[in-house]
Amino acid sequence: MANQEDNLFKNVISHAKEYGFIFPSSEIYDGLSAVYDYGQNGAELKNNIKEYWWKFMTLLHDNIVGIDSAIFMHPTTWKASGHVDAFNDPMIDNKDSKKRYRADVLVEDAVAKLQDKIDKEVEKAAKRFENFDRSMFVSTNARVLEYQKKIDEANERLKAAMNNSDMAAMKQLIEDLEVTCPISGTRNWTEVRQFNLMFSTEMGSVAEDANKIYLRPETAQGIFVNFLNVQKTGRMKIPFGIAQIGKAFRNEIVARQFIFRMREFEQMEMQFFVKPGEEMKWYEYWKEKRMQWHKTLGLGDGNYRYHDHLNLAHYANAACDIQFNFPMGFKELEGIHSRTDFDLKSHEKFSGKKLQYFDTEDNQNYIPYVVETSVGLDRMFLSVLSSSYKEEKLEDGSERVVLRIPAPLAPNKVAILPLTKKDGLPEKAMEIMNELKFDLRCFYEEKDAIGKRYRRQDAIGTPYCITIDHQTLQDNTVTVRDRDTMKQERIAVCELRLKLIDACSINNLLRRI
Ligand code: ATP
Repeated sequence: MANQEDNLFKNVISHAKEYGFIFPSSEIYDGLSAVYDYGQNGAELKNNIKEYWWKFMTLLHDNIVGIDSAIFMHPTTWKASGHVDAFNDPMIDNKDSKKRYRADVLVEDAVAKLQDKIDKEVEKAAKRFENFDRSMFVSTNARVLEYQKKIDEANERLKAAMNNSDMAAMKQLIEDLEVTCPISGTRNWTEVRQFNLMFSTEMGSVAEDANKIYLRPETAQGIFVNFLNVQKTGRMKIPFGIAQIGKAFRNEIVARQFIFRMREFEQMEMQFFVKPGEEMKWYEYWKEKRMQWHKTLGLGDGNYRYHDHLNLAHYANAACDIQFNFPMGFKELEGIHSRTDFDLKSHEKFSGKKLQYFDTEDNQNYIPYVVETSVGLDRMFLSVLSSSYKEEKLEDGSERVVLRIPAPLAPNKVAILPLTKKDGLPEKAMEIMNELKFDLRCFYEEKDAIGKRYRRQDAIGTPYCITIDHQTLQDNTVTVRDRDTMKQERIAVCELRLKLIDACSINNLLRRI
């Protein structure tokens, strides 16, 4: 990470703590690695993101319904899904620094460095030649061709090593690429070992009878095992979807980067059941729809891009990520996968229960195909927080830190600020707050100078500050200060409610998709 981005990320993290968004878990005991708690402002922002997603799925699509399945599931679920046998990451330790890494990530980083070298060669040449032809250059320049050959070879070998779970081949690849530990700078590596990411615990009060069960590593399986329950009780006709928001747990090997990679996190997943053969049409549909949902937030269209998967998981026939430009660069925010009939078929096999759909139009039974959209709620949170965090220099030479959070997602919508603590202004302010609080989350504050109070609201992303002054008592008007422009407008109290609801409503945001 470049230094500037590194600093920005550090500032975002400390801001999140200082202003009640995110705290390290059990901090009084020095925290728990890669586990975080959401504070009073964080919980509100998180709930608003959930609402935006849930309503998009279940209100805007009359063929999608939501469920809430348990975190604990019958252990066979995870045999059937493939997680017991295959939900592994290859890990490797550097013997000098004692640091642990994901072996595949080390290879990917080495490949990215080779790609950087190509980009630099191209950049250099582009400066040197007029009428520079990029594709001609990369297909003829000897050095570029050599780097490209190394990249292709490394990708091929990585794919083969992962598919065959061949950890010796993975180690050899790391050695051949001359990967060094970023901490110790040495190539003194251990063997590569497979590590299952599922957390397990025991259910049952008597040790001998206890059953080993898992904390779910994804919410999707709770949807698959309920496919028939929902289809039958909801009289759902294919194509239809089941949505769910809930916790998932993964014992990640390298859990750094704040809430980007946590051991306990939350997913918002939707499985869309379609007729076999129609999955690619729906895959394209959801790719597009999900991107629209993201972009409508207004965090900047250039911050999103698709990343198609070249190495498909065994159950998928198409997959891509929507990546976001996080402070540490473009990384996965959401996955969109065409999962074929793998999961339902496998649950049929392991449970012995038929999980099929009777299509009355075709007069036939089939196991539906599935297109999945899966977005991490915490990564969504980080995308909103990091892109809305701004350190600004103002015209008068002063500085402010402001969170330009999209108004419908902001923890508080309005701050109600009586100019002074006397002359009946607090009473008038409370009267206004009592009128607004049913529709908008309000924050009341009468301490400190008004400028200071504005700054505090900027720092937690409150889009509007309402100031109640002496004129309010005479003509029933207040000033409304806009967080982003800092402009103030005088407006009649009776107009406040509708105007603010209009600007802050999640439903209005949904209308723009
Ligand atoms: P990655 O490649 O980053 O490990 P993944 O491909 O394993 O992610 P999926 O299994 O597709 O992720 O999960 C769907 C979504 O859940 C991801 O796009 C991400 O937003 C979120 N997610 C996955 N793992 C974590 C984690 N450890 N912490 C926070 N969010 C996560």
